[in-house]
Amino acid sequence: MTGRCASCGCALSADEVAVTKKLVNRGAVSFYCVNCLAAYFEVTPDDIRERIAYFRASGCTLFAPARPADA
Ligand SMILES: [Zn+2]
Repeated sequence: MTGRCASCGCALSADEVAVTKKLVNRGAVSFYCVNCLAAYFEVTPDDIRERIAYFRASGCTLFAPARPADA
């Protein structure tokens, strides 16, 4: 249960919730999908995905460890 994007209403992944906290506000109560975050920050969705990968690689506890089974 991770909720829905506050902008477009699509289902959110745990990573999208986590990256909203990192990029917007640790105490954020509204969360956004990759596409809406990209529009908000005027970057591409791939830039947001790179940030997710970066935060995960840096060991941020908001992000679940990468699991090869998900690839
Ligand atoms: Zn959205």
